Amino acid sequence: MSGPSQPIFRFAPSPNGFLHLGHAYSALFTAHWARVLGGVMLLRIEDIDIARCRPEFVAALYDDLDWLGLSWPEPVRRQSEHFGDYERAAGYLRQMGLLYPCFCSRTEIRAAAGDASDPEGAPVYPGTCRALTGAERAVRLASGAPVQWRLDMEAAMAQSSRLEIRETHPDPAAPVTTRKAEPGRWGDVVIVRKDTPTSYHLSVVVDDALQGVTHVTRGMDLYAATDIHVLLQALLDLPSPLYCHHDLVRDEAREKLSKSKGSASLRDLRADGWTPARVRTALGF
Ligand code: GLU
Repeated sequence: MSGPSQPIFRFAPSPNGFLHLGHAYSALFTAHWARVLGGVMLLRIEDIDIARCRPEFVAALYDDLDWLGLSWPEPVRRQSEHFGDYERAAGYLRQMGLLYPCFCSRTEIRAAAGDASDPEGAPVYPGTCRALTGAERAVRLASGAPVQWRLDMEAAMAQSSRLEIRETHPDPAAPVTTRKAEPGRWGDVVIVRKDTPTSYHLSVVVDDALQGVTHVTRGMDLYAATDIHVLLQALLDLPSPLYCHHDLVRDEAREKLSKSKGSASLRDLRADGWTPARVRTALGF
C-alpha cells in the first residue's frame, strides 16, 4: 500500500511489439528511482491502439519484466478497459468549446500544410476544419464520415495560466527546475482519434492523475509531448507530476531502438543466452 506522501512512479509500455533494451532501460530506471526515493512503481498497459496491440505482446511484456526481476502492485491498469474515463475528459474539453471535429485525411493535411512542422517533424495541422461552420460540422458528423477531434490550441492556451513543467535531470533526485511549456508549436493536436475514442496525450494525462502518479520517468523521445500534457492538466484541473526524461538507448548507428526497425527484443537476447544480470549490467543498473 502506498502512504499519502509516498512517491508514485509508473512504467507505461504500449503492447504493440516485443520490449527491447530501450524499454528495459526505462523500466529499470523507473524501478531504481522508485526504490531509492522510497516510492512504488506501477505498471500501466497503454493499449488504446486496438489495431496494433495484441494479447501475445501483453503476455510477453509481463513475462519479460518478470524475467528482469521487476514487480509492481496489482491491479495493473489497462487503458482499453477505461475508455469511459477518457471519453468523459474529452467531454469536458468539448463543453469548454476547445475541441472541434476534423474530417481531413493525412494526404489532405499534407497538401494543405505550410512549412511549419511540429517537434516530431510532422506538418502542423493547417486548421482546415476549424473554419467549418456549425451547420457544416453537423452535416458531416451526421453523414458518419470518419472523424477525429482536435484541440483548438490557441483557444486552449488562452484559457490556461499555469503552463510550467517541473522537471529534474538527469534523475528524479536532481534539483527541480521549471521551464515554460510551449504547446503552441504542436498546433491543433488530435485529442480523440478516428480509430479509438481517445489519444495517447489524453489518456496518459487522465491516468497519471487517476493513479496519483507523482513522478513521470520516461525517455527523451517524449520530452516535447510534456508541453501538451501540462496544458491538458491545466484545462482539466489535474495535478502536474514531476517529469524526468532520461537518455535513450541507441544502437551502433546512434539510432533510437525501435520495434519498426527490428531492434533486438528482450526475447531475442534471452534466446541468445543473455541473463537478466547481463541486461542490467549492459544498461548500468
Ligand atoms: N506508452 C508510451 C510508450 O510506450 C509511454 C508513455 C509515457 O511514458 O508517457 O512509448
